[in-house]
Amino acid sequence: MTNDSDPGDSNPSDPNDSEGTPGSDLEGKPADLADRVASGDLRLHELEVHVDHETAAAARRHLLERETDADLDAVGKYSFAAADAEPNIENMIGAVGVPVGIAGPVSVAGGAVEGEKYLPLATTEGALVASVNRGCGVIRESGGANARILKSRMTRAPVFRVADVTEAERVVSWVRGHTDGLRDVAEGTTSHGELVEVTPYVVGDSVFLRFGYDTKDAMGMNMATIATQAACDRIEEETPAELVALSGNLCTDKKPAAINAVEGRGRSVTADVEIDREVLEDRLHTTPEAIDAINTRKNLVGSAKAASLGFNAQAANVVAAAFLATGQDGAQVVEGANTITTTDVREAGETLYASVSLASLEVGTVGGGTKLPTQAAGLDVVGVRGGGDPAGSNADALAEVISVGVLAGELSLLGALASRHLSSAHEQLGR
Ligand code: NAP
Repeated sequence: MTNDSDPGDSNPSDPNDSEGTPGSDLEGKPADLADRVASGDLRLHELEVHVDHETAAAARRHLLERETDADLDAVGKYSFAAADAEPNIENMIGAVGVPVGIAGPVSVAGGAVEGEKYLPLATTEGALVASVNRGCGVIRESGGANARILKSRMTRAPVFRVADVTEAERVVSWVRGHTDGLRDVAEGTTSHGELVEVTPYVVGDSVFLRFGYDTKDAMGMNMATIATQAACDRIEEETPAELVALSGNLCTDKKPAAINAVEGRGRSVTADVEIDREVLEDRLHTTPEAIDAINTRKNLVGSAKAASLGFNAQAANVVAAAFLATGQDGAQVVEGANTITTTDVREAGETLYASVSLASLEVGTVGGGTKLPTQAAGLDVVGVRGGGDPAGSNADALAEVISVGVLAGELSLLGALASRHLSSAHEQLGR
């Protein structure tokens, strides 16, 4: 459905101008409901219990407009049924519109995807889509990029309290000897997820167990959390270990962490391309040597000096925009930035080899925000909405296409720096 009009606009023919859910215990327009929330008669987060979701969102907008002087008309215009977003948001007031552009097509020779692909990118950073699109053109003229998934592992690492290191060692031994049993318990909570490994870490009287799952087409954070809880219950039954927290931060979710950059999390995916000198000269007005020199001094030496986890030019830019356009969890851009870009001048300077290796790209084509209509449309553009056949192949394909988009972004930005075109390009595009 399209919600173009604010239910508070007193349009009696508008079904959104609700008088309450049929059969609900409450009647009233959004403005009256806002009054009742303000007076403490109703609770802000319980409005959907009493009225339909559009009316509840409109009532919250009324309340906020009064209390903050904000004009929320634009926030109240959204293109999906508020009820459909219930798993994704609480205290909904509307939606934020982010412009979506398209980069491509670009030819991808992947393990899970083959052929010309477009990549939708949602961003407010002018010049980003143009930059990725320019890189896609370079890859296209070079015959396309390779892409491969090298590891697929969503992790959850609970932390347990033990008496001392001797008990820690006993718990770790028990876990190592009972991994099959823990797998049965964990996999009993999901019809798709597979427990692949449990890696123990001990710090004094704390035992961390990093559970790694193949979550197929789901990004898998809920799936892994539920499965790990079941395994923890078994560990507490069978050993003296006492669960302190289901997430002990060694997972590591949504925080910069070397463990993700080294061991991977979600999909570890890499893409590469070999580009002829003429293509670089024609398209990016630069040379293999200039790009290679910048990659070494900027992406490798500069990043090392900064003690960065990401050795790249703008991987997070492409990951963030692709995540927004396809319903991924935006906070996991942190892990998506764990990307190394390499270049190599080959064939006596006639070609440039370039690669990107994304250690921890966390993507799904089912669950989370992927069902919302505009995000599902983004997945349709890539051709990967929903579960793949075999399970996991759609999320693999999405990761491969995003990795090629990241490669395109790297080539374009390195090219802009090499030709000293970066600031003029931004100026030309109005920023
Ligand atoms: P989910 O929406 O909770 O679950 C997706 C479910 O889809 C799976 O559990 C699976 O059910 C089912 N499914 C159907 N077809 C599938 C297929 N082909 N491959 C895999 N699964 C398939 O999503 P999630 O990916 O587990 O978690 C993502 C959500 O977690 C996001 O909303 C994210 O924001 C949120 N999140 C949660 C935490 C946390 O700590 N809980 C942390 C960060 C983010 P079965 O398991 O029954 O097979």
